Amino acid sequence: MTYRLIAFNGRFIHSCLALFYVRAALEENLPGCNTDIAQYTINDPYYPTLLRIVSGEPAALFLSVYIWNSIYIQRLIGDLVKLLPGVPIILGGPQAVILAQNLSPDVSRRCTLVQGEIEGITKSFYKDLAGNRLQREYICEKAPEFKSPYIPNDFTGPLKNRTIYYESSRGCPFGCTYCLSASGKGVRHLSTSQVYEEIKSILRHAPKIIRFVDRTFNDLPERALDIWRFLVNQPGGTLFHFEMAPDRFSEDMLQFLEGVNPGRFQFEIGIQSTNPKTLESINRKCDLANLEPNVRKLLAMDSIHIHLDLILGLPYEDRESFVRSFADVFRLGAHYIQMGLLKVLPDTPMSKSIAEFGLVVCGSPPYEVLANRWLAKAELEELFWFGECVEAFHNNRFFRTLWDYLRKKNEDAAAFFQALLALCRGRGFFDLAHTQELMSSLLLELTRERSDGELCREILVFDWLRCGHHFLPGHLEKEPLSEHKKRLWSQLPQNWEGVYDYKNRDEFFKQSVFFRFSGKFLRDTGLADDNTGAYVCFPAQREDAVFKLNSFLFIPASLSES
Ligand code: SF4
Repeated sequence: MTYRLIAFNGRFIHSCLALFYVRAALEENLPGCNTDIAQYTINDPYYPTLLRIVSGEPAALFLSVYIWNSIYIQRLIGDLVKLLPGVPIILGGPQAVILAQNLSPDVSRRCTLVQGEIEGITKSFYKDLAGNRLQREYICEKAPEFKSPYIPNDFTGPLKNRTIYYESSRGCPFGCTYCLSASGKGVRHLSTSQVYEEIKSILRHAPKIIRFVDRTFNDLPERALDIWRFLVNQPGGTLFHFEMAPDRFSEDMLQFLEGVNPGRFQFEIGIQSTNPKTLESINRKCDLANLEPNVRKLLAMDSIHIHLDLILGLPYEDRESFVRSFADVFRLGAHYIQMGLLKVLPDTPMSKSIAEFGLVVCGSPPYEVLANRWLAKAELEELFWFGECVEAFHNNRFFRTLWDYLRKKNEDAAAFFQALLALCRGRGFFDLAHTQELMSSLLLELTRERSDGELCREILVFDWLRCGHHFLPGHLEKEPLSEHKKRLWSQLPQNWEGVYDYKNRDEFFKQSVFFRFSGKFLRDTGLADDNTGAYVCFPAQREDAVFKLNSFLFIPASLSES
């Protein structure tokens, strides 16, 4: 007799923490029971997945329902009740109530709804489950204690090759009106000693990534700093991901983060909008004056991947305001700018303001906004594609110098990406594979006629070579790279102190790429104060920084022109 615990994740590498909590609760309350964790993705083919779920005659099915999987699960339940008559189907998770409302009465009758945290569910649930007399609904009656649910075998079984999710606190101190966590009552933190013990036992299995799912990891800055201090002292190369409030970084935290090695931490920071009226209307408290200096300091470290979020479709955010929010965020220089559509989830405060804000919303999950009082359908659509364009071109390592250059010269970034979007549409970009070469050629086309067109071309060459390529694509090549190398081969001395000596000169040349950049390029990008231009060498080494770009070094004129 096996209880099958089922999740549908967005991607294979994700895992569903809730299933492990459910398993722990079942094993605690029904000692000796058999459980079986089954994780699929929402892209898995339907019929084989259905067959796998019903195989082996499970005694009950537990399904974890979220906004991203509720459509798949709704379809599935309709067939599960036919294939497994008499087998209880227990629905939990943040979208379970809404899903249950969408089921037909016949199907719904076969399901049991568990509302709230599994650790706080009344004990009668387990008795009823074992006795096969489940009620229609069980509710979490108190804010329970919780602890990490993982056991060692998970790491070679259901968690193998997946991201590990870990919760050191539950609940959120804020109340953003579009968020399901807004209805929570306060935050419960695990003691730091418990966190240390639990993390240590996870790290024994050397996972690649541990994502802290704490809704605001730094709501208590001192505690956050204590946990970080512990984490950086742990052996191994695990990357830790945190969701951070941008205005809750103390000076001590920022100072500490300066010493953290690249690849150890990454932060997701919700900005959502830089329009104070918008932030006020969604009840998002953020000290904008603190935000900018904090994020700038974090970015200047170039050791922590910084992901900044904006939301498209918020109240009081018209086209001009959204574009300004984007420009504000672009100016900060984030590694990743996400512009997600507002989702108006049932039972959130936002869903009660549909009329007030003139929200037009998709009828099924994930309930994206289609228009509102400030953005007509066509305007919202335009801004959505604008976000897709930023996603494709900006959110990678391909063109970092170009973005820095635009920032340096205070370019109107929104206008730049709008022009890029128009070009992309004209060239059918969104139907094509988004290769670096294609994007680079579009950027060249966009900038070619500008007064700084030649400089932009050099920047694109530099960015291309920083990505470790040993050739130039046709649109960037005026002269083969081999010609630059040939010239330097005859000009550079047998020994270049600190770089090569006569014994490894051949190898150095074999592995390196060379290009001559103009003085204007060097000056205007801020790379060197040089009017005459210089050869730049790209040896086969990566930088120890967020994007791990190819390193580079200038070849002094005294060497190359000797
Ligand atoms: S801070 Fe994040 S988790 Fe908390 S209410 Fe706002 S959106 Fe939700």
